Amino acid sequence: MHFTVAIVGRPNVGKSTLFNRLVGRRHALVDDSPGVTRDRREGEAALGPLRFTVIDTAGLVEAAPDSLEARMLEQTTLAAETANVTLLVVDGRAGVTPEDRYFAGALRKLGRPVILVVNKCEGKAGEGGFFDSYALGMGDPVAVSAEHGQGMSELYDALAPHMEESPQSPGDEAGEKPLQLAIVGRPNSGKSTLLNRLLGEERAVTGPEPGITRDAIAVAWSHRGRPIKLVDTAGMRRRAKVIGKLEQMSVSDTLRVIRLAEIVLLVLEADMALERQDLTIARMVVEEGRGLVIVVNKWDTVERGRRALLTRIEERLTDTLPQIRGVPVVTLSALHGEGVDKLLPKVLKTHEIWNKRVPTSRLNRWLEGVVAAHSPPMASGRRVKLRYMTQVKARPPTFALFVSRPKALSDAYQRYLVNQLRDAFKLDGVPIRLLLRAGKNPYAPGN
Ligand code: GDP
Ligand code: GDP
Repeated sequence: MHFTVAIVGRPNVGKSTLFNRLVGRRHALVDDSPGVTRDRREGEAALGPLRFTVIDTAGLVEAAPDSLEARMLEQTTLAAETANVTLLVVDGRAGVTPEDRYFAGALRKLGRPVILVVNKCEGKAGEGGFFDSYALGMGDPVAVSAEHGQGMSELYDALAPHMEESPQSPGDEAGEKPLQLAIVGRPNSGKSTLLNRLLGEERAVTGPEPGITRDAIAVAWSHRGRPIKLVDTAGMRRRAKVIGKLEQMSVSDTLRVIRLAEIVLLVLEADMALERQDLTIARMVVEEGRGLVIVVNKWDTVERGRRALLTRIEERLTDTLPQIRGVPVVTLSALHGEGVDKLLPKVLKTHEIWNKRVPTSRLNRWLEGVVAAHSPPMASGRRVKLRYMTQVKARPPTFALFVSRPKALSDAYQRYLVNQLRDAFKLDGVPIRLLLRAGKNPYAPGN
């Protein structure tokens, strides 16, 4: 939900000092449940007008001097994979060391956004290290002094463009930024009719913007005060018109709108619900990690056996998309308007679940329970140990599970965990990501 910045680097470069500088004492949200996350520091940072969550990985590295490299790599990877931007901190006074190069290499392999920060640059003593650091190949370094608060506006300049590009920039919290909605489905399923119905009922408050027709990109309106934006590509609709209704919407067009959206409405026709092509689209939505709501349109044409048809559709969804149990299915008539009022509440609910965060302490209590109820299978004569779990991001909910031997944990057991997770924390209808990580609880002291 929040823009997240991770601070990584070898010990003693000033990561914690930078963290404190960005967060200030007041806002540090240190989760100090004993033995769980004591060494993980997360806080709400302010840098000029920017607001973001910052994660300090300090202490983690020092906790395991005997396996320094492995631990560094694990932490760096986890932090960089889940943060929007990673700050790689080096010490300008000490110059570039082999450990710094090791970090830079690991980060480069991930291909995620990195800003190189050269700390301890007050005075002239940091100059040598500053120029050396170009050799890390991480682009232009930013010189700062975390201790003296220098270079913060340069850091701002480096960070701000990432936040503008991100679909999760600050001010995106629920209520402010429009919910990005896409309507997809086979031609003729009633997508345009549904859109017009939604706009008609909800009154377009901010859109369509002047000169843009309802069929164009980014129609914005609001539902009970909640801004909603329809993401679409103008070309897609136009092409569908030109080519004619029989032509299928291309996979790449569909994929493009899915990627732009947070929640996807998949429109089906009641009398031919859930054919192969529909399921292909549904799978793309799951793979892209978006929230899905199924619309069974033209419900007015079903005169008899409505309940049986709905049951059939729901069963088919469970069978064919087990990885996203509990997808909401809304039956309606876009043409006549019946049932349309049920749709947006489901969309908002799905969006809320998609954004949900489960506290680490609750997750680990839950983990103990599910492992006790059904222990992980043996692999090569030994039981796989599940040690610690934390939600590393939302949109969609993504969990890191630290296990003794990730490769030995069967798919069936992972499915069991995901299903239990879904039930316990009411994560219906959204994709859930489970990342397996080798090792112990990285945040517990002494590990
Ligand atoms: P970490 O291990 O990377 O978290 O590093 P710390 O934040 O604990 O800092 C390590 C040492 O560097 C401490 O003694 C800090 O006071 C010092 N330090 C941090 N930032 C600066 C800086 O900007 N200039 C100077 N000269 N020292 C700094
Ligand atoms: P699109 O290609 O998915 O945008 O589909 P359209 O919105 O153009 O609709 C295709 C056809 O289905 C049109 O003739 C619509 O009038 C009709 N249609 C759309 N929704 C309904 C509905 O709820 N009931 C009935 N009976 N027809 C509908």
